[in-house]
Amino acid sequence: MAGQSASQADVEVLVIGAGLVGIYALYRVLDAGFSAQTLEAGEGVGGVWYWNRYPAARFDSESYTYAYLFSRELFNTWRWKEEFATQPEVEAYLNFVVDRFGLRPCIRTGQRVSSAVRDETRNVWVVTTESGLVVRARWVIAATGGLSVPHYPEIDGLDAFRGQAHHTGAWPHTPVEFAGKRVAIIGNGPSGAQLLPAIAGTVAAVDVYQRSPTWTTPLNNAPITDERQAWLTANFDDIVKTLSTAPSGFLHEPAGKFSTADTPEERQAFYEKIWRSPGFAKLSSNYYDMTTNREVNLEFCEFLAGKIRSIVTDPLTAERLIPQDQLFGAKRPPFVTGYYESFNKPNVSLISLRETPIVRVDATGIETTAGHRDYDIIVYATGFDFGTGALTRMGVKGRAGLDLSVDWADGPADFGGFSAHLLPNFFFPGGPHGAGGGNYPRYSQDQVDWITGTLAYARDHGFDTFEPTRAQQEQWMTMIETLAPRSIFSPKHSHYYGANVQGKPRKFLLNPGGRGKLHEMLNSMSSTEDYGGAFSRATADVAAGNLSLG
Ligand SMILES: Cc1cc2nc3c(=O)[nH]c(=O)nc-3n(C[C@H](O)[C@H](O)[C@H](O)COP(=O)(O)OP(=O)(O)OC[C@H]3O[C@@H](n4cnc5c(N)ncnc54)[C@H](O)[C@@H]3O)c2cc1C
Repeated sequence: MAGQSASQADVEVLVIGAGLVGIYALYRVLDAGFSAQTLEAGEGVGGVWYWNRYPAARFDSESYTYAYLFSRELFNTWRWKEEFATQPEVEAYLNFVVDRFGLRPCIRTGQRVSSAVRDETRNVWVVTTESGLVVRARWVIAATGGLSVPHYPEIDGLDAFRGQAHHTGAWPHTPVEFAGKRVAIIGNGPSGAQLLPAIAGTVAAVDVYQRSPTWTTPLNNAPITDERQAWLTANFDDIVKTLSTAPSGFLHEPAGKFSTADTPEERQAFYEKIWRSPGFAKLSSNYYDMTTNREVNLEFCEFLAGKIRSIVTDPLTAERLIPQDQLFGAKRPPFVTGYYESFNKPNVSLISLRETPIVRVDATGIETTAGHRDYDIIVYATGFDFGTGALTRMGVKGRAGLDLSVDWADGPADFGGFSAHLLPNFFFPGGPHGAGGGNYPRYSQDQVDWITGTLAYARDHGFDTFEPTRAQQEQWMTMIETLAPRSIFSPKHSHYYGANVQGKPRKFLLNPGGRGKLHEMLNSMSSTEDYGGAFSRATADVAAGNLSLG
């Protein structure tokens, strides 16, 4: 960048986004010897851990299994306080990584990319930000996040409200004062469920507006003791090995059995054990057939319904909190401390939008078909435009007239969940079909490792263009479409199908084949010298050295 004007920069690799994935991608490409730069829309790094600063925002992956694994020294240096860390701790960790590995000088914050256009004759991407910065790059890694575009509910009058209104995914940097306030929380997914217990004790009143209930189970958090820390440090190699291959990306012990191995009494005892297990272990340590055998899943749901009835003292509220038409896991389950208990407080109410839908938001509060309630603060815990939201808003124009926002209007088509035909040299790790529904960083690490390895391979073999062939993309998409119906996630309920966004095509947005299929297809691609035709060499202009990079 030195010696170049601020508005024109040539760089080998441009990373977009400085969240978990973008930070790792930047580290890896710099480490591999490429010149690189990152553009980030936020004023700081951290991605979701920068934007989601609502009270009690925290991991539901174990801190050390979510953290980076590329450096033993980093793993041993950073001491997590709890099994499931809070947002400030995660944000501090990601900033620590950025400084520890000297990445900050390569990151430009406050730069939202508004267009990324392929210049085919020069074999570069021309990337422009809202503030007018233009960067030309040979390779783009768009780590723009699957949960980075907050989704607001489709309700009349949102702008009319004169009190404070905040989306959990775009939380203000100055603390929101809840004490003594009348609060509405719209949404009961992971963010809303984390927020409620955190504020229920101090607000004058809080109403939870629930569209459909979700199976919410205890996080079972704990401090990381010195003994636990010593164990983590001593077992780094084994931890890395397990996390590098575990389908879920977690350390959780698998059940080792199908439900049919146990008697009904043994199953109840097993469910009690699962109820007390940490976070996602309720899925990854559950019976092997929990997500494929409807009968056993319904039995587990009945067990959970019993738990809700035993915790929530008002029977009507308890029944409203029990999902009637949803298997456990069909919707991304929140793992939270004290959610159901909050409804026993006299100042907490549940409003079922199935019974009394919202008519409108107005200057003073919310009107439902049952009447009007005044609020000081409305919180939108209504999730995100998952998977495709950020990429389709970024003005991506590829080869042969491809406009991503048009091309993906009926759902994304890609290869590996990070690249696409007609988008040469453009990667989007953590994008649609990227994650498998388990511990996110382990999936995105697989992708970033492969992408950065591929860039180094290209450099070493004289290739400068990577674009999956149409056939490779079709093979991947056939896998997605074939396996998606076998997934537990429900098109009716899950944001993994876009179900929370009105008008969004109900297409499955995870990788239903998991890490196994991802690795199988990547290995197959890289088994030939030119990656089955995905690699090619430069245009005449570029080969003649008319474009200087770096
Ligand atoms: C509250 C919350 C809790 C979560 N907890 C967990 C958990 O415990 N375990 C788990 O596995 N997953 C969790 N997730 C999922 C989470 O999305 C991933 O774990 C991970 O943080 C994603 O990292 P990322 O870098 O891909 O995306 P992000 O963290 O979203 O980062 C993307 C970055 O790209 C930037 N960006 C987007 N568009 C542009 C643009 N046009 N120009 C410039 N910059 C742009 C954004 O500002 C953002 O900083 C959680 C998500 C949320 C919202």
